[in-house]
Amino acid sequence: MDAVESLHQRILACRLCQDAGHIPLAAPVVSGRSGNRIMLIGQAPGQTELTRRRPFAGPAGRVLFGWMRSIGIEEETFREQVYMTSITKCFPGKARSGSGDRRPSSREIELCRPFLDAQLALIRPEVVLLVGGMAIERYFPRTPLVDLIGRRFERDGMSFIPLPHPSGASRWLNAPDNRARLNRALDLLRLEWSRLVPAQEGARRAG
Ligand code: SF4
Repeated sequence: MDAVESLHQRILACRLCQDAGHIPLAAPVVSGRSGNRIMLIGQAPGQTELTRRRPFAGPAGRVLFGWMRSIGIEEETFREQVYMTSITKCFPGKARSGSGDRRPSSREIELCRPFLDAQLALIRPEVVLLVGGMAIERYFPRTPLVDLIGRRFERDGMSFIPLPHPSGASRWLNAPDNRARLNRALDLLRLEWSRLVPAQEGARRAG
């Protein structure tokens, strides 16, 4: 078992938020392997992921993988090539408003932070896709989405490409200017993908 698989075993065994009463059931989701050069960080798994135990297995995934198909990346290729994780690893429950999922609390984020830090330290991705406001806030606090989506940022030896959350609850993409920002972000990803993924597959074949 390599270091990434060992970390995944520790995450899958975690019950911290359940034991603290933040969530009724801890069901952590992990996806990815050592050698992935691209990492996706989302908010938290949704209700579908609670049973499927696979990231972006529900409605948000259909939107996300639609975006990827628009730049020539099929879902299974994306899942194979991208280390997919999130700010917290367990479904936080539905929002009280009834619209979308509850945002994990700052306490839950703190409890889960060591896992995300360890994932970043082990994977050391070249490109990080930040999907949705919570993931974006970790790196770009108090910055409006319009100043971030469609741009790439270099930091700590990594390229960050922020993306809006692919959730039906978000109205942000209804504005044509914002849709254009998303398309620019996807173009940036396509460029990084063509740079990173063939080299990675070549290396794996050689290995
Ligand atoms: S969200 Fe993170 S810290 Fe909380 S129980 Fe799940 S894996 Fe553990």
